[in-house]
Amino acid sequence: MLHQTDLAVNGAGHLTVGGVDTLALAREYGTPLYVLDEDMVRSRMRVYVRAVKAYMPRGSRPLYASKALCCKALCRMAREEGMGLDVVSAGELYTALAAGVPAGDICFHGNAKTAEELRYAIASGIGYIAVDGEEELERIDVLAAVAGARQRILLRVTPGIDPHTFAAVNTGVVDVKFGVPIPTGQALAFTERALGMEHVALAGFHCHIGSQIFDAGPFRLAVDVMMGFLDRVRERTGYTASVLNLGGGFAVAYEEKETAPDCGEMIRQAAERLAERCGQYGYPPPAVMLEPGRDIVGAAGVTLYTVQNVKSVPDGRCYVAVDGGMGDNPRYALYGTRHTALIADRAGETPDTTAALAGRCCESGDLIGENVPLHSPRQGDTVAVLVTGAYNYSMASNYNRVPRPPIVALKDGKPRLIVRRETVEDVAALDL
Ligand SMILES: *Cc1c(COP(=O)(O)O)cnc(C)c1O
Repeated sequence: MLHQTDLAVNGAGHLTVGGVDTLALAREYGTPLYVLDEDMVRSRMRVYVRAVKAYMPRGSRPLYASKALCCKALCRMAREEGMGLDVVSAGELYTALAAGVPAGDICFHGNAKTAEELRYAIASGIGYIAVDGEEELERIDVLAAVAGARQRILLRVTPGIDPHTFAAVNTGVVDVKFGVPIPTGQALAFTERALGMEHVALAGFHCHIGSQIFDAGPFRLAVDVMMGFLDRVRERTGYTASVLNLGGGFAVAYEEKETAPDCGEMIRQAAERLAERCGQYGYPPPAVMLEPGRDIVGAAGVTLYTVQNVKSVPDGRCYVAVDGGMGDNPRYALYGTRHTALIADRAGETPDTTAALAGRCCESGDLIGENVPLHSPRQGDTVAVLVTGAYNYSMASNYNRVPRPPIVALKDGKPRLIVRRETVEDVAALDL
């Protein structure tokens, strides 16, 4: 049930998003077009800000994981709604700073940060660097010394939790490129190393257990493992962490048959478990950071395309080819994901065809979906693909030198362009 999305059908039978006719948007801005319901984005941000404030210890804060959809307008929305920001590259950091996000509200992640990026982050006065391993730790210590700074850091550790089986201490799950494993003992050594350094200030620990988590269970388990680790660190070194960053991964519903989880309730349950463990260990409750990305923007996004061709293969499939595809939505090509789509012109009609919704790129795997129910698709129709706010624009490419679509944000029933359409000149602009 895609109940979070503010979709409706108007008197003309057209799909509306946030009360705005999608066909009118397609006419005004052209297709492909990313449409983002800004009212909904802000309301998702508020849900996190409120739940963290209501349930988590003092000083806790949600950060928007900007990789889900990074542009200046989104960074500004996060700041205005009281969220901090996660970045994973100099490009995202630059965007956030250019949007006016205070550097102190930003946390820098990544498993392969370059010296140049670290220098930039330290010089900007970034709030936290989530350090992914010992070599990076040494590098930061040296770079901070050169900058005359003492850089606040979190250590990224791998708790060894499979968020989809709820199993703890699964060595398969510590065998990943991110973080330093707790179960192998390496995370403790990593911590001792950081505590001995002069130019880093260890604020606490970070973990991120996965994505599309529908239940509080994995977060409760992460609290268990992380608090057990914090307690052991304190026992061995006397160090008490003041920050515990539990990462993101809150799920969105991509298909009608899925139900979006109640993230406020997930946060409440994680907080309850944290209070229990802090009580048990006599540990001062750390400030908790959460890093939702997908759930902030995912359901608020709809992509509009125009049907270019419809082809039926006798005894085969019906192909509905649109003017976008893997360039603007690589999720099917990357992960084989499923999206809900409909013909926006006749949004109230029951689907009568099952089609392969095909993109425009020269690549057989360029599909948006394989068995998509649609109502009598024909050339010129507007197709709306739902729940495309996250990991679409941010993962878009110029494959086949197709310019990337613009983003139009809808607030109080009014459209506003927040990213302009790329031109073919833009695409060729770097060529020498
Ligand atoms: C990807 C990522 C997130 C956001 O994940 P979502 O599934 O979009 O909520 C948060 N924190 C870290 C460290 C990540 O890598």
